Amino acid sequence: MASTKGLASEASTKDFQCRIATVGLGLGGEGGEIADYIKKVLFHGKEFSRETLIKELGDVMWYVAFACNTLKIDMQEVIDKNAEKLRDRYPQGKFTREDFLKKETRERPQEAGGYDINDQDVWRSAS
Ligand SMILES: [Mg+2]
Repeated sequence: MASTKGLASEASTKDFQCRIATVGLGLGGEGGEIADYIKKVLFHGKEFSRETLIKELGDVMWYVAFACNTLKIDMQEVIDKNAEKLRDRYPQGKFTREDFLKKETRERPQEAGGYDINDQDVWRSAS
């Protein structure tokens, strides 16, 4: 298990609720930093830096490790469970739109029969 001991504030480690709040807020914040960085690279002319992205991914990984420590689960077990979920979702071992849509319909049946994002009329009517 990756150690995060001593690297979180006292308030963040006060109790289980504070630890979970730290995970959620921290992952949201770090995900936002990555999104903002990529936005600046794609649309503002900022030069892409592999090192910058790696450092931000490291920040995300720290919160993932903190979450694993809080939940007393090994990171490898989380990775294995995710792989199992994806194998179940994509039984052919690769992404297919059909399998993706099956999953979406299963999780959000109220949205079944909704918009086809590839239909250009959908975009014209929304603008
Ligand atoms: Mg960061």
